[in-house]
Amino acid sequence: MKLIEGNKIAAEIKAEIAEQVKELAAKGQKVPHLSAVLVGHDGGSETYVAFKIKDCESVGFKSSLHRYEDDVTEEELLAKVAELNNNPDVDGFIVQLPLPKHISEQKVIEAIDPRKDVDGFHPENVGRMVIGLPSFVSATPYGIVELLKRYKIETSGKNCVVVGRSNIVGRPMSVLMSQKEMNTTVTVAHSRTKNLAEVCASADILIAAIGSPEFLKANMVKEGAVVIDVGTTRVPSSETKSGFRLKGDVKFDEVSSKCSYITPVPGGVGPMTRVSLLKNTLLAATNKIYS
Ligand code: NAP
Repeated sequence: MKLIEGNKIAAEIKAEIAEQVKELAAKGQKVPHLSAVLVGHDGGSETYVAFKIKDCESVGFKSSLHRYEDDVTEEELLAKVAELNNNPDVDGFIVQLPLPKHISEQKVIEAIDPRKDVDGFHPENVGRMVIGLPSFVSATPYGIVELLKRYKIETSGKNCVVVGRSNIVGRPMSVLMSQKEMNTTVTVAHSRTKNLAEVCASADILIAAIGSPEFLKANMVKEGAVVIDVGTTRVPSSETKSGFRLKGDVKFDEVSSKCSYITPVPGGVGPMTRVSLLKNTLLAATNKIYS
């Protein structure tokens, strides 16, 4: 079994991005600018946004944060989106999800200018991705494709099972894996899938994006399979300072001895998600998607 070290690959990619930022600055061009909009004080969202700002600093990007309390109105938030759309200094921005229930996430996503939609959630980017046009791709699936490529894992003609069909992970992942670049034969499994264990055990490449800790056991994994664990669930732990630890969707101890490659949690997919947002921001700043 070989461990797929997302931390290591993400660090390499960050160094490449930092180099490109230096080149832009040396040519007198502006450095990429990522903005984040954060509503409320959800612990997870606070952490994710803090990471995003820190990541920007580490590669030389400019970043800015726009904070609102939970009682912000949809109109106020849409006005901020319009302002960021029209601000020429901002290359890309994200609105951290989830949003409070009184705000339509879909309406907010659709209000973002697709050319600045570095999360890749706007229907225009999703549509472009589906038909193979240049697009901003949702960070997690984008990062997983990059991991497979950098580890030179053969995908062509392989059976790929994606467990999970969310708009931000499972669905775009399944599309990317079916495209000519990856050439796998894809099955998308979800909570209504019958005989899930057999479906999973048919996979040469198994991608789990469920959110159920240690759900996938050894009997659900084919000998020699490549296993990508997207799941990150916080479970209570007396061994950490924070009082919790992250668990993946895969029962690592059982499965790792059976497969050819596996991503750990943490340190596998997570760092690739973070670095993919930086990649999308650089693409936005250099007009590589919508030229
Ligand atoms: P989500 O929106 O809750 O979607 C979960 C998917 O899993 C749904 O499609 C659901 O099926 C399916 N599912 C749930 N229980 C199942 C079961 N018992 N059998 C088969 N399928 C089942 O979650 P998400 O946003 O895609 O995230 C999934 C996990 O990845 C979470 O742990 C999340 O924290 C993590 N995540 C990690 C990263 C990272 O960078 N590492 C990034 C994003 C997300 P239905 O559609 O039928 O309900």
